[in-house]
Amino acid sequence: MWTFAGVLVLPSGLALALGLLIYLHLWLRVWRGMSHRPAYRVVYCAAAIVLSCLASGVIVAGWNGLPVGFTGSLRIVEAAAVFTAANAFIVALSVYLHTGARSPRSLFGSGDDNLLEVTTLVLGTSTALGIVHAPALVPFVLLPVLVLHRSVLVRQLEIAANIDGKTGVLNAHAWHLLSERELSSAARAKSKLGVLMLDLDHFKQVNDVYGHLAGDVVLKVVATTISEHVRDYDSVGRFGGEEFVVLLPGATETEVIPVAERVRQAVMDIEVEVGTASGPRTVRGLSVSIGVAVYPSGGTVLERLLHVADSALYQAKRNGRNRVVSLAAA
Ligand code: GH3
Ligand code: MG
Ligand code: MG
Repeated sequence: MWTFAGVLVLPSGLALALGLLIYLHLWLRVWRGMSHRPAYRVVYCAAAIVLSCLASGVIVAGWNGLPVGFTGSLRIVEAAAVFTAANAFIVALSVYLHTGARSPRSLFGSGDDNLLEVTTLVLGTSTALGIVHAPALVPFVLLPVLVLHRSVLVRQLEIAANIDGKTGVLNAHAWHLLSERELSSAARAKSKLGVLMLDLDHFKQVNDVYGHLAGDVVLKVVATTISEHVRDYDSVGRFGGEEFVVLLPGATETEVIPVAERVRQAVMDIEVEVGTASGPRTVRGLSVSIGVAVYPSGGTVLERLLHVADSALYQAKRNGRNRVVSLAAA
């Protein structure tokens, strides 16, 4: 919001400096403490600010002060559209190149995300108009900004309440809620959706040999490994103890098994250094059994899909563990 206000009233270079300053502040206060924020996001974020300021700055440079009247409003809308388009281009490029996600929603955000974006641009425009035409009214802009900020903050707190503290993936409740939503959109879009249910093999032995604390460290590494081997918009959840679930929106029968196999292989490759009573040791040789179910062939409600995946998991255990079983394919 402040960046776009800056674009409208400041010379291009200063607006850019203001944008970077705002994001530097954001980075220092928030992002720096977030462990799961890959470096490419920071780089693309900076690129997005620079490009959107410069691109919309080109339009604003042709003005002689803030434009007024109906055509003036249209010119501000034009600057806002260029600002957003440049921003969206960089963000979509980053998602496309780094996450493998391809859906319009993954590339360009949800309706709510875009509504928030438009709202901030409107507030930015109000601020700019206020600064130029009625500086005394500018403090009033702070009120909607505070309300907006709080609602965004509440959303972030909600996200934090959805994370399992031990492993960093979704907790069971959050995974359920999210899966119900994804299932509804799959039903509307008539698309498919895969569910993986995973249970570590003989995990009790890890606890017995290395201790419970070491077991906890291993659980976190396993959760991270699973997350790294599925797409960004797949949801990994911890169901309980050493059981995980993964929801794969859009995945068909033929796609789900290779994903499960990839995860299974990745768990076998895990080597994790843990501290034990007798000094540091390396845990390796882990394995996981995975049961698979696909919507709609395996079931049309979540409970049924979970039941099918659980039966497949049970079969995988009975067949000797460290394997992927899909009852539909059997
Ligand atoms: P399998 O699944 O192959 O049949 O054998 P298992 O030994 O893994 O058996 P089960 O799935 O029943 O494992 C449950 C064990 O997982 C019991 C407990 O020692 C361990 N476990 C469950 N939750 C936690 C946890 O939060 N931390 C640690 N360290 N261990 C846990
Ligand atoms: Mg187990
Ligand atoms: Mg278990």
